[in-house]
Amino acid sequence: QRLSRRGGKEDEAAPAESPGRDLSTLPGLRDIEMVREAGAALGLENPYFRPHEGVAGARTVIGGRDFLNYASYNYLGLNGDPRIAAAAKAAIDRHGVSASASRLASGERPVHGALEAALAANYAAEACLTFVSGHATNVTVIGQLMGARDLILHDQLIHNSAAEGARLSGARRVAFPHNDWRAAERELAAHRRRHGRALLVLEGHYSMDGDVPDLPRFAALAREHDALLMVDEAHALGVLGATGRGSFEQCGIAPDAVDIWMGTLSKTLSACGGYIAGRQPLIDLLRHAAPGFVYSVGLAPPLAAAALASLQAMQAEPWRVAKLQANAALFLRLAREAGFDTGSSAGLGIVPVILGSSVAAARMAAALFEAGVNVQPILFPVVPERSARLRFFLSAEHTEEEIARTVAALVAARGGAAVARVV
Ligand code: PMP
Repeated sequence: QRLSRRGGKEDEAAPAESPGRDLSTLPGLRDIEMVREAGAALGLENPYFRPHEGVAGARTVIGGRDFLNYASYNYLGLNGDPRIAAAAKAAIDRHGVSASASRLASGERPVHGALEAALAANYAAEACLTFVSGHATNVTVIGQLMGARDLILHDQLIHNSAAEGARLSGARRVAFPHNDWRAAERELAAHRRRHGRALLVLEGHYSMDGDVPDLPRFAALAREHDALLMVDEAHALGVLGATGRGSFEQCGIAPDAVDIWMGTLSKTLSACGGYIAGRQPLIDLLRHAAPGFVYSVGLAPPLAAAALASLQAMQAEPWRVAKLQANAALFLRLAREAGFDTGSSAGLGIVPVILGSSVAAARMAAALFEAGVNVQPILFPVVPERSARLRFFLSAEHTEEEIARTVAALVAARGGAAVARVV
């Protein structure tokens, strides 16, 4: 072996036929082509990358047509709210669009501190730090905190960003079956003592299934085995708990039972970016050392302002959270009554309709799109073939009548009948 230019090891012998500069053989490209060809063979339009012409909320406009929309994470209907837009515009007028450099290198804007204080308060935490992307937050934070001597134990359905962070860290990675705290306990008992630090990574509300972990059990487990507990609240803030504070409010545990609260600004908070809330030493370290913070531009001021205004609206208007939860519960009940497999959904904000094959899911999504319902099909290999599904993200802005019409359209599409337009 010799060192490659990037510093990694590579095999001495070059492959017999080097692809050289041929981009058509890049790994993964063939898979994308195969999916495209399969869609074309079935006569299905590509459901991805469709341009929305306005705000993608509970309703949206695509190609000049109105749709009921279940494919956006606008949980509380705050993206598009004039107050949020006004806060972003005022921040642009004051600071411009960009933060123009890393906060460490060149300074920050008052709105960064204000947003971080408000987020820290949500978790009754000592401090908080924001990053330019939710995905980058998980990658850089897990990558920074853990190292080769450490152990990362995570739910098998953890988001790609946390999995990438775990890979980057070089720590030993062990996945346990979804939501199975007993399996996690067995893994900790088997591996914990051979490692320096241990990090247990969960999500407060899982985006593929819309279900939740037994957080009190996992918190007890982390304590017993001297492991740090990190919970990704991307789909929990604004969705779980009576006032939307998240999974700890939903299950009634103290927020300090979790060491590292992670979240994103892109869903309930209708902006873009990520955050970590926790104890002061954690945040101090990340502010000075996490590469995705130190070597990246500060959060854009209009995004910070939009996220802060959204958090304030969530707190001032808890009816939004109650309406979202009621909508999800209604969708879940009607879908179940119609005989659909909704998996383990808790009916709090996300409801999957599991159709058993990628072809069935793609066909159903296409039939619903014709009828005026925009919902994303989740196909193999993102999920196992047998659990290919449509995934419905509910919003506080859907009406009961729209939800009833949507489930009726699902029933009609299942029967193979042409589905009447619902909008
Ligand atoms: N964590 C989870 C659980 C997510 O679902 C997502 C995105 N869907 C992220 C992190 C990344 O957040 P963002 O899209 O804001 O970068």
